[in-house]
Amino acid sequence: MWHEDDRMMGMYASLDDGGSSFLGVCPACGESHTHVLMHRLEPSDPRGTVWVWCDSCGSYVHFGAVIPDWWENPGFVDEGRLDSFVDYPDSITAKVDEWANDLLG
Ligand SMILES: [Zn+2]
Repeated sequence: MWHEDDRMMGMYASLDDGGSSFLGVCPACGESHTHVLMHRLEPSDPRGTVWVWCDSCGSYVHFGAVIPDWWENPGFVDEGRLDSFVDYPDSITAKVDEWANDLLG
């Protein structure tokens, strides 16, 4: 079901300045089923990787980026599974949303 779609990168852009909400409208299908997970490589390093996905249409994107200051890596994510992320999101989507919404306050 998953397929890469670069339009999903726009979801990250909206969060980069602090954002306002974790859930947004998918640029591919128009449904509000998008999720964002970021992973800072080291606590002192602004660089990391970003995954954005939509569980309505299966669009996703994965890219390296500067991680926003407000983001903290969630402890429940299995870092070993992030490289093959397309097999992973169903099991963590709800927790990822809750985590990001808490961070955004
Ligand atoms: Zn979609």
